[in-house]
Formats: sequence, structure tokens, C-alpha cells
Amino acid sequence: MIKPVVAIVGRPNVGKSTLFNRLVGERVSIVEDRPSITRDRIYGDSEWLGNPFIVIDTGGIELDDQSTIKAQMRYQAQVAIEEADVILFVVDVRAGLTNMDRDVAELLRQSNKPVILVANKAENNQEAEMNKYDFYELGFDDPQLISAEHGRRTGDLLDKLIEYFPEVEEELYDDDTIKISVIGRPNVGKSSLVNRILGEQRVIVSDIAGTTRDAIDTPFSHDDNDYVIIDTAGMRRRGKVDRGVEKYSVIRSLRAVDRSDVVLVVLDASEGLTDQDKKIAGYAHDEGKGVVIVVNKWDLVEKDTHTMNAYIEEIRYQAGFLNYAPIIFTSALTGKRVMEVLDIVNYVVEQHNRRISTNLLNKVIEDAVAMNQPPSNKHGKRMKIFYATQPRVKPPLFVLFVNDPELMHFSYKRYLENQIRGAFGFEGTPIKILARGR
Ligand code: GDP
Ligand code: GDP
Repeated sequence: MIKPVVAIVGRPNVGKSTLFNRLVGERVSIVEDRPSITRDRIYGDSEWLGNPFIVIDTGGIELDDQSTIKAQMRYQAQVAIEEADVILFVVDVRAGLTNMDRDVAELLRQSNKPVILVANKAENNQEAEMNKYDFYELGFDDPQLISAEHGRRTGDLLDKLIEYFPEVEEELYDDDTIKISVIGRPNVGKSSLVNRILGEQRVIVSDIAGTTRDAIDTPFSHDDNDYVIIDTAGMRRRGKVDRGVEKYSVIRSLRAVDRSDVVLVVLDASEGLTDQDKKIAGYAHDEGKGVVIVVNKWDLVEKDTHTMNAYIEEIRYQAGFLNYAPIIFTSALTGKRVMEVLDIVNYVVEQHNRRISTNLLNKVIEDAVAMNQPPSNKHGKRMKIFYATQPRVKPPLFVLFVNDPELMHFSYKRYLENQIRGAFGFEGTPIKILARGR
């Protein structure tokens, strides 16, 4: 399902990220012990009264460091205007109206998007009721008084918000279709790669190319499999969105990741992984998507026998959390190894869907425990694993029934993950491990 997008906009310190956390906070995916990526989360799923939606905290979207606050805010408002179905414009009712609020308002008024004015930090009713009149000058409807920090009246805000939602778009493909998104910085060769894959004779591109708001979808068949490539670069090509300043559409990429089974993270061999790549790959990891790293423009690299290994080592070092992701070296220019990308995708899809029998799984866990005892707490209480099951695939989820889930330590979880991978592989797919009390 393609969900409506809500963007939170406003000057610094009004409480955008607090509101964001209030809206998506409890929904953080089941088991992640990796603090670095989630901290700068700018994008999350939420739901109100059965209406799922996506929230963007534009405060986390930044131009380069040298930009002024004003330029940052302009940029953030611009992203919101382009990406969102509804905009939450947050102001600080305690601080009152500022010129920065006026600047943001000016931009938002020029858009045709619905804007809800949110007056945050309204714990003190009297003060809030008095100050709210300041904000009428901005030309929006009555401000919604809330306290994001204390969760006050956010329900009323959400009631109002969902009234603005457009009809929800249905996902266009069935479950058997392998959905591949192609992400990476501009110019790394995403489109060239996609064109190469589609141009291959054994690939049959279907007549109808679906177009969503975020990407150009190209469905095709190959060796009896149905695929769709979700190409975020295609959009820009067709000139529908051109924002000049923007280097990399994070949000569009994240939305493409959301809709896919496997994410191809494409990079230019001469540049390596960028921070944005890592952020998006981290999101794919969190969301349990298959990930393949494609090092493109390999033709341009001067190589000896060590080059490829050195490259792999560097990527593993840069993005340790993706240590399961296959790395392939391609040239979209010469076509070298381009069709192998599809073979790897197929393999990753298989791993992503792989189910391990309860018997076999418990054998591996027992062996792991025998080799390396589970942790105990400071009172000497040790974790005991009774048994394990795999209730889910896409991504594989392993549930361990234990005496006390609190005793599970992330390092032990990582150990178990390594043992499971050692026994079964699971290349290209994240796996999730959840400890549960009986
Ligand atoms: P952002 O820069 O707009 O994302 O703002 P933050 O969410 O980081 O919040 C800025 C400051 O305002 C933090 O110190 C928050 O704790 C505080 N804050 C956020 N929401 C509220 C609220 O509802 N009431 C009060 N009193 N403080 C809040
Ligand atoms: P995108 O913005 O990621 O979609 O990148 P493009 O596919 O538009 O490619 C950007 C530029 O890099 C174009 O000039 C391509 O011809 C060139 N390019 C793409 N792939 C390769 C490659 O593997 N090797 C070389 N040498 N050039 C490439």
C-alpha cells in the first residue's frame, strides 16, 4: 500500500522531532541494537484510527553544513511541499511568533498543499490561549494547541490530520513479483544499470510501466520470474521533479525502499559509500529488506589482484551492519557482470524467504549455547534459552523463548546471529532475533 505522507516543518527548537517521536516513536521495529542510524531518523511509519501514514521530520533533512539556518529552513519547507500530502507547520506558542516562523509560513502559503498550524508547548492553557492569536497573522486556520512532549491533544491533531488524507493508493503488484529498488547518489550509474538490465534480450519489459509519485516502475519478466524495478532516478530524468539544490532525494529513496523486497545500493567505484548511502542502507536493514551493494564504474578503476578484496574490506569496515550484503562489481558502460545482478537478486530473495525447520534451528542454537554461555546479570542470574522458532520470513525472524528477555545482551544476540548465519547463510537478508519470556 502506498501511504499518505505527512511532513513536519518549522524553525529549530519548536518541537518537531519531539512531535515526530510522539507520532512514530513506539513503532520502532522489533530488534535493533544499532544506535547510530536510528538517532537521525527522519522518516517513520505511523497510524491513527486505522489510517497508516508516513511522517517526515524535515528538521533532520539538511543541506551542507555551511548553509545558514534560513537556507536550511527554506530547503526543508521545499522538501515538505514537494513530498507531503499534508504539512504540519509547528510553532512554539510559549515563545510567540518570530520572523523565522513568518519566513516558513510565506513559503508554505505559496504551495497548494494543506497546512495545519500546530502551536506546540501548550501545557499552560491560559498562556497558550492568549498567545495563539499572534499566529493568526500567518494566514492559516486556527492553530491546534498541543504539547508534543506531554502528549496533550495530539489525538485531536491526528483527528484533524486524517481528514486531509487523499485516497490511499493500492500497491500495484502481487506478492510473487520481485520488487527491486535502485538507490544511490546521482551519477553513480543507476539509470545506466537499469537500462542495461532491461535492454538485455532475455528480459521482456511489459508494456505498462507503472508510475507512482515517487519513482518510475518498470515491470519485466526474466526466466519465469516477474520483477519490477523501482527507479528513483527515472523520475528526475523525466523532469517532473527538479529541485536543483538537492543532491540525493532521501525521502523518495526511502519510500522506494519501503515498496521493495531487495534494495540495490549503487555506488561509484571511485567514491565508495557515502553517508547518505549508509543512512538509506541502514533504513533498508531496519525494515528487513534484502540488500545488494553494487560497485559500478568498475571499468574506470585501475586494478591489480588485490583491488577487489581491498574494496570489499573497505565497505565492510564502513558499513559493518551490512556484513551480510553481497557486493558485486559492475560496469553499466561495458555491461560487465550486469546480468549477474539479477542472479544475485534471485538468490537474495530466496534467502529472504527462507524457512528453517524448528528441529534444525534448535540444534544450531543448542550448539551455540554449548560453545558460548548466555550472559548473566550482576546478580548472577543467567539467561536460559528453552527453544527457538522461526515464525516469519521476509525477513527471517527468530524468536527465542527464554527465562528472562531482559538478560539478552546485544553482543550475545550478535553471536547467535553469527552462528545462525554460519549454519544457514542468509546472504543478503537481515535477520531478526527476538527474545521472549514464556
Ligand atoms: P525541533 O528542533 O523543532 O526538532 O525541536 P525539538 O523536538 O528538538 O524540541 C526542542 C526543545 O523543546 C526540546 O528541549 C524539547 O524538550 C522541547 N519541547 C518539545 N516539545 C515540547 C512541549 O510540548 N512542551 C515543552 N514545554 N517543551 C517541548
Ligand atoms: P544515475 O544518475 O545514477 O542514474 O547515473 P547515470 O546512469 O545517468 O550515469 C551517470 C554517468 O555515468 C553517465 O554519463 C553514464 O554514461 C556514466 N556511467 C554509468 N555507468 C558507468 C560505468 O559503469 N562506467 C563508466 N565509465 N561510466 C558509467
